[in-house]
Formats: sequence, C-alpha cells, structure tokens
Amino acid sequence: MVTYKDLAQYIFSDINETIEDLEKKYPPRNLSCDAEVTRFAPSPTGFLHLGSLFMSLVASKVAYDSNGVFYVRLEDTDTKREIEGSGEELIEQLSHFGIVPDEGYLGSEEKGDYGPYTQSKRAHIYRVCIKHLMEQGRAYPCFCSHEQIEEIRQVQEAMKVIPGYYGEYALCRNITPEEALKRIKAGEKYVIRFRSQGNFSNKVTFHDLIRGDIQIADNALDVVIMKSDGLPTYHFAHACDDHFMRTTTVLRGEEWIASAPIHLELFKALGFDLPKYAHAPVIMKLDNGNKRKLSKRKDPEASVSHFIMEGFPKEALKAYLMSIANSNFEEWTITNKCFDINKFKFSFEKMSLDGVLFDQDKLNYFSKEIIAQFSAEDFYNRLVEWSKLYDETLYTHIKGNKEYVTKILNIERGGEKARKDFTFYKEVYPIIGFFFNDRYDQIVKDGYPFNEVMSKEVIKNVLTDFASSNDYSLPNDLWFNSLKELAVRHNFADSNKTYKANKDIYLGHVGDVAEMVRVALVGAKNSPNLHSVIQILGKEEVDKRINKAIDYLA
Ligand code: GLU
Repeated sequence: MVTYKDLAQYIFSDINETIEDLEKKYPPRNLSCDAEVTRFAPSPTGFLHLGSLFMSLVASKVAYDSNGVFYVRLEDTDTKREIEGSGEELIEQLSHFGIVPDEGYLGSEEKGDYGPYTQSKRAHIYRVCIKHLMEQGRAYPCFCSHEQIEEIRQVQEAMKVIPGYYGEYALCRNITPEEALKRIKAGEKYVIRFRSQGNFSNKVTFHDLIRGDIQIADNALDVVIMKSDGLPTYHFAHACDDHFMRTTTVLRGEEWIASAPIHLELFKALGFDLPKYAHAPVIMKLDNGNKRKLSKRKDPEASVSHFIMEGFPKEALKAYLMSIANSNFEEWTITNKCFDINKFKFSFEKMSLDGVLFDQDKLNYFSKEIIAQFSAEDFYNRLVEWSKLYDETLYTHIKGNKEYVTKILNIERGGEKARKDFTFYKEVYPIIGFFFNDRYDQIVKDGYPFNEVMSKEVIKNVLTDFASSNDYSLPNDLWFNSLKELAVRHNFADSNKTYKANKDIYLGHVGDVAEMVRVALVGAKNSPNLHSVIQILGKEEVDKRINKAIDYLA
C-alpha cells in the first residue's frame, strides 16, 4: 500500500534534510531576550508605496530600539506580477530614507546567516517543510483545474455556503496516496494543499500587539501551499521564513488579519512557535467624502518617489509617518524640539487601529519645521544634491555659487523666530529666484506691481532718494530708522500709527515706502527681510534694479 510517506518520498526525492536539520542550520539568534527581530517583506512588483515605507520605518525602529535585527526579505514568488529591477529600487529608496537593513536582501547582494533572503532561492527550505507535512498526511496533491475550482465556487454560491476549497468541496482531499502517485507519474499537473483540521464554526484567538486579543473564525480551508511552478504561496512562505529567519515580531498590513487563522494552523502543524503579530493600519485618502486606500494608480502620493521628487526632506516624511504610527509623536516634537525619530520611544499600544488618513498639511508642517532647523550650508548641500536630479533650473543657478546662495538661505534662519517659508525643495527657486538677475529680468519683464494709488512721480522720487542715500553699512534697526527718515522726507508718516492718526497730511507711511523699494528690487510685494535682500544684492545690483524700475516708471 502506498502511504503519504511514500508519496512524499517520490515527490521530494531530492530532499534528504529534515526540519530538525533546518532548526540546527538556522538556530535561535544570539540576542538578548527582549531584542526584536523584525522585517520588511516587499514583493518586487513596483515602486515603494508610502504604506510600505511606513511599515519598514516602524519595523526598523522596533528593532533599533531593542538592539535587535531588522532585515529585508524579497517575496518574489508571484512571478507574473514581478517588475524587473524593482527589488533594487525598493532598497535604494529605503536607503534614501536612511533605512538600511542589518541583514537580508540588499539589492545586488545579500547579507546574514539566515538566508537566502529571496524567496525564489529558498525552494529547498520549503520542500523540506512540505515533505514533512505530507509525511504526516497534512499536505496532499491537488489536481483540480481552474474550471473545476470555478465550478465548486458556483455550487457554493448557489448553496450560499462559505466559498473555498475545504471539507466536502475539497475534491482531491480524499484521493488515496496511491492514486495521487499514479497521476503524478502520468505527468498530471498539480499543486500541493495543506490539509486543514479546522472548522469555520469554531473561533480562534491570537494576540495582536496593536489591537490586543483578536477573536476570529477558525480556518478550515485547504489552502495551496505549493503552486504548480514549485513556488510557495504567501501563507506557507510566511510560516517557514519567519520561523527560520527567527522573526520575533511580524509587522504587516491589517489586510492580513483575515488570513491569520491559516497562519496559526500552519505554524502549529509545522511545530513552530508563533511570532508576535502587529497588524498596522493602512494609509487612506478622503475621496468625495469616502475613505479609501491610497491607490498606486490614482494617487501620486501613494508613491514614495513623489515626495523625493518634490523635495521633501527625508526627515520630514519620516517624522510625518512616525506621527501616524504614534499620535503622541507630534506633541513630543514640540516639547523636545527634535524631529529625530531615533530619540522617540515608539510603542505599539499607541498605534491607531483604523486606517489613517493621509494628511498633506501635517506633512507640510513637519517639513517646514525641519527645513527651518537646517543650517544654511546643510540646506545648500541638500539643494545641490536634489536639484541635480530633479530641478535643472535651480541646479544651474546654485551650483558653484555656494557663498551667494548660502547668504540667501541664511536670511532669518535659526533662532526662535526662524523663517519657515520653505515646505519642500521644489519651492525654493520660485521663492529665491529674484536674487538671480536672469530670473529678476523675467519677473519684471511685463512690469512692476507698484501700488496704483501712489503717483509714479512720488515712487520715482522715493527710489531716486533711496539709491543715493542708502547706507549699506547700517545694521537692520538703524537701517530701518534711515528708511523712516527717507519716508518723512517724502511726506510719508514714520509709522502706520502716526499715519492713521493723521491720514490727511500724509501720502502714506514707511511701510508704503518699503514696498516701493521691495517691488523695485524683487518684482513682488512680498520678500524675505528687505534689509537682508539689499545686503545680499549689494550696491551695484541694487542701483541697477532701482534704475530699471525708474525707467519703467518714466
Ligand atoms: N509580501 C507581502 C506584501 O507585500 C508581505 C506581507 C508581510 O509583511 O508579511 O504584502
């Protein structure tokens, strides 16, 4: 009589190792008992999704905080959906955010003693485990075609029973090992299924680090564990890989909660201890008043590269994601004046349970605060690096022009009242462009936005006086006093208050005069601190621009 052992021996004749051998080959890690081993397990099916960055950020943080290990495993068993080169790209983008795995799949190479870290290279390990299950009668070959599976589904739909391959609907469940062997020898195509011992009407409970105890219907599905191409399914690979890579905490999206009973049963059947689970919320978006998942297709912000291209500093995106992870992070940044997530104590209990809404304003807030804390030199270096790839105009203006650009970036930088006008790097050129002569000429090409209430004559006189009397050596406050004197010379009040008290006798106040100078020099009614602008442009350029404006007014 052919037994399951014989069948397993036939199918897995190349396998001599046992699960015990693998246990020895991949022993428990030599880490302190509270050290966490976490992982990021992307499928190479496209760009790095914001949700994946979120997940890997939290996973790496948990490992980092506990002196544990964070590794990357490439889940490339879905060969149909694989996009060539996307594995490497994922690693590159992670490293852009300073997330460098301690071990695992690193793009062009792998590092660590628990590999291979690419699932398609782990066939041997899966085969050892499936052989073991089959020997116990817990795995069996299934010869059902797509059509047969579809028929079963239709029957179940008509009978209004739970859909899936289980119990009496699992046609190949009761095929004898003898018959199975015959069919395999005859070259029939098959997959291998797990033989569940569960029952949908029972409940199983497992603990989730974010959600507490979760009670959910037991698994009764005979899920596929090995596909006809010899590769494992997610469920099976998860059990084997997270066990033999000695993962302590599996952090993954909440969409996996529903399959957790399958995983619980697989771990048990394989004799593996269950890891801790943390099912994190997904990042959602409000669309016409409805919450929906960020979509790769519809939402540019689903892709991490969008934020890189816009020029959000990596610290900003990380801080923002940490504020999603733990709602107390934002408050912590305010009292600690620090956006370094490494210094923050993350906790699973403080994680939100529901899908979180993507909040652009919050990201902008973090970004502004973080950019305002850069030194001008650091900011300059970052801009050069970024613009080289994403903003040619900015790059050609700032490259090799460090002294001048650093002065510009230094305007009102640092201190309590630091200027927070930059949200992302793409905004920099539109804001500082007027400092460059070609851009200034472009801005004023069609005229200047002078206050139309003022007569051209008055503006011309103010500008002419300014050009001849401006003292470049004065510090800001004294310089502003001199501007007040200039205002008075032209019948403007030296303050808004004085003007308001006696509107009839003045043409306006010193603010109007400053505006005239600003419009002439910048081509706009707003600019960073005017004294700084004048200092940076220097007398020669200031004179040139003032004269140009006077000519325009003539
Ligand atoms: N490859 C799976 C995914 O991309 C990983 C899920 C997990 O982390 O276990 O969804």
